[in-house]
Amino acid sequence: MLIIGAGPTGLFAVFEAGLLKLKCHLIDALPQPGGQCSEIYPKKPIYDIPGFPEVLAGDLVNNLMEQIKPFEPGFTLGERAETIEKLEDGSFVVITSRGTKHNAPVVVIAGGLGSFEPRKPPITNIANYEDKGVAYIIREPEFYRGKKVVIAGGGDSALDWSIFLSDIAEEVTLVHRRNDFRGALDSVEKVSELSKIGKINLVTEAEVVGLQGEDHLESVVIRHKGEASDEEIKETDYFIPLFGLSPKLGPIANWGLEIEKNAIKVDNSYDYQTNIPGIYAIGDVNTYRGKLKLILCGFHEAAIMCQSAYQRIFPDKKYVMKYTTVSGVNGFDGSKKEAKREVVKSIN
Ligand SMILES: Cc1cc2nc3c(=O)[nH]c(=O)nc-3n(C[C@H](O)[C@H](O)[C@H](O)COP(=O)(O)OP(=O)(O)OC[C@H]3O[C@@H](n4cnc5c(N)ncnc54)[C@H](O)[C@@H]3O)c2cc1C
Repeated sequence: MLIIGAGPTGLFAVFEAGLLKLKCHLIDALPQPGGQCSEIYPKKPIYDIPGFPEVLAGDLVNNLMEQIKPFEPGFTLGERAETIEKLEDGSFVVITSRGTKHNAPVVVIAGGLGSFEPRKPPITNIANYEDKGVAYIIREPEFYRGKKVVIAGGGDSALDWSIFLSDIAEEVTLVHRRNDFRGALDSVEKVSELSKIGKINLVTEAEVVGLQGEDHLESVVIRHKGEASDEEIKETDYFIPLFGLSPKLGPIANWGLEIEKNAIKVDNSYDYQTNIPGIYAIGDVNTYRGKLKLILCGFHEAAIMCQSAYQRIFPDKKYVMKYTTVSGVNGFDGSKKEAKREVVKSIN
C-alpha cells in the first residue's frame, strides 16, 4: 500500500497492514514522520490516547515508529505527492514534487490537514527575520530558555505556549488583538493568573505591526488599539505569531476526489474508501457525518481500511482476523530470517 502522510494515522496504518502481511511505503512532505504531533506540538502532553493517561506527542510518534519497525515500511520524506494516475491493471502511480514515482495497487491518503502552511501576520519585512528571531512553530521549548519572547495570537496554541514558556523564558509577552481569547477557559484563566504575578506580560487590544533588528530580530513594534500613533517598541529575542495553520489539501484537491469543506468524503458505513475505488482516505483528511478529528479515530479508521484494502489486493484470499495476543507481530521476510538465525544461534 502507498500511504500519503506519515502522521499518527499513516504510521498506525502500517501496523494494521503489517498484521495482514501487506507491505507499506509512506510519502510525507515534511522531513520527519509524525504529522501535526511532530511538527506543531511534539512537547505537549496528550491525554486521550487509550491506555496512556498522558503521553507527549513526540513520544507517541516515537512509539508508533517502534511499533511498525518489524514491518519495515519504506519512507520518502520531504517530498509532496503531486499527481496520481490509474493504470490499466487498476494500480496507481503517484509522482512526488521531486519526480519520484511510486506504484501500488492501493493508495491510502492520510494527509491530515494537507500540506500545511502557518498563517503569517501581514508585517511587510517578516520574511527577512524568519529563522532569525521569527518562528511560526515551537519545536524545542528549551531553545527559548533565558530569552525574551513575544507571542501573538488568541487561540489555544498562543495561550498554552505562553503558559509553558513562562517557566523557561526570561520574559514572555503575549499580544492579542482583543480582550477575550478563543482558547480553552482554563488556559485563559491560567494566563490571567500568571499575568497578575508578573510571569506573563499580557498586552491585549494590540497588534505587532513592525519588526526591527540588524542581522537578527532585536525588537517588535506593538500598536495599541485606537490611535495609529499609540505604538511601543518592545525589545525581544524572538517573535512567535501563533495564528494557526491554513489547511490546504494541496495537490490532492485536484485528484478527482469528492471534497467537502476541504476534506475528502469517504464511505464510513464500510471502509473509508473515497469515490475512486482503490483510494482510501483516513484520519483528519477525511469527512463523514459525525467525524471527529482525533488521533483515536484515525487509528480506528486505519484498522477498518486495511481489511478492505486486503480484500481488494487479494480478492481470492479469505482473511480470518486474529488477535495479536494469538498471532504475535511477525515482520516480513527479513525479520523472520533474523528470528530464525536467532533460534539457530541459541540452539548452537
Ligand atoms: C495543538 C494541537 C493539539 C492537539 N491535541 C490533540 C489531542 O489531545 N488528542 C487528539 O486526539 N488529537 C489532538 N490533536 C489533533 C491531532 O494531532 C490530529 O487529529 C492528528 O495529528 C491527525 O493525524 P493524521 O495522521 O490524520 O494527520 P496529520 O498529523 O496532519 O499528518 C498528515 C501528514 O500528511 C502530510 N501530507 C499532507 N499532504 C501531503 C502530500 N500531498 N504529500 C505528502 N505528504 C502530505 C503532512 O505533511 C502531514 O505530515 C491536536 C492538534 C493540535 C494542532
